[in-house]
Amino acid sequence: MGSIKENRWDCTECGTNQARNDMWFEGDICGECNQQELNTKKKDLIEEKLIDMFDRIGIQTPSNLEDITQYCFEYLVIDENYNVLSDLDLQVAFAFKLWIEEHI
Ligand SMILES: [Zn+2]
Repeated sequence: MGSIKENRWDCTECGTNQARNDMWFEGDICGECNQQELNTKKKDLIEEKLIDMFDRIGIQTPSNLEDITQYCFEYLVIDENYNVLSDLDLQVAFAFKLWIEEHI
């Protein structure tokens, strides 16, 4: 028989005390932190794709790369298998095209 204390756990990321049924990833980080971590990974991947694209078309990485990355991130709906999507290059290129149309 577990006490109330045993049915709760602290997120190792944000330290928030969580109820057992909020458990995520075997109880070490909460759903919110997990989502943030996924978002960070997605943004890093998008940024990587953008830099690749700039390299390919021979332009220097723009100083506002972060803004462009954020724009593309918000535009793109990438599922949890984002890293195996073969057309992510195209998705990022398309999102960048929209950014250009909005900003130039
Ligand atoms: Zn957390």
